[in-house]
Amino acid sequence: MLAGQCAIVTGATRGIGRAIATKLATSGANVVVNYRSNTEEAEKLKTELEALGVKILLVQGDISKDEEAKKLILAAKDAFGKIDILVNNAGITKDGLIMRMKEEDFDKVIEVNLKGTFNCSKHVTSVMIKQKYGKIINISSVVGIVGNAGQVNYSASKAGIIGMTKSLAKELGSRGINVNAVAPGYIVTDMTEELSEKIKEETKNSIPLKRLGEPEDVAELVAFLASKSSDYITGQVINVDGGMVI
Ligand code: NAP
Repeated sequence: MLAGQCAIVTGATRGIGRAIATKLATSGANVVVNYRSNTEEAEKLKTELEALGVKILLVQGDISKDEEAKKLILAAKDAFGKIDILVNNAGITKDGLIMRMKEEDFDKVIEVNLKGTFNCSKHVTSVMIKQKYGKIINISSVVGIVGNAGQVNYSASKAGIIGMTKSLAKELGSRGINVNAVAPGYIVTDMTEELSEKIKEETKNSIPLKRLGEPEDVAELVAFLASKSSDYITGQVINVDGGMVI
């Protein structure tokens, strides 16, 4: 489905990013795996994915820093000569009620989640415009749509990603570039692991499909949005949440 294409996935050594990188590689794409800190895990993933017969490039870098995001995009272009797919997945939480939330915790979440998405999208745009082709997929969250107590920073960053997705879709549509957002619900990863068993159980019960999501549930949709099957879809926000937000 994606044979010979070049896909960049940010924050790809764990959780949803790892599942996306794996799904895209399984679909035949050469994948640029961006990661921030865990080189050992990145090397392990590279070996695992190369066994599928695709090329993998590891690029360490903090995407919230413009220079590092630029290096990531240039490294991908140098290695593969083109960039077909960018998945802006890297994200963090620093939860707390607003009265106790430190300014730095607000800024950090916005910097990584929203500005990181901006940085990578900005630098990939010049490559994709020249190609007259590209798929940008931004990982938002249902929390960016309905909000969540204790997550004013995170929900603002994820709502910002939705606005950015729609603006970019309008800006880049005439250049053959599709921009969409995916809004996962509760997905089992390190990010959600810290929540209490009580909250997990309550959440599960409130979900129409009566289960928590797996990273692979998100990866399936991302692979569709990365493929030619989604050529007439842009500027959309699609939930992968088991019906949590209807
Ligand atoms: P995760 O398990 O915590 O993994 C986050 C990944 O992002 C890690 O690989 C991390 O790298 C990387 N990362 C963090 N900051 C980075 C930076 N500045 N530069 C580059 N990489 C960075 O999270 P997840 O649950 O898979 O979440 C992935 C995305 O889905 C996030 O955008 C998250 O907001 C979104 N999402 C998750 C859920 C959920 O229920 N899990 C729901 C909705 C949306 P390190 O290993 O180096 O820290």
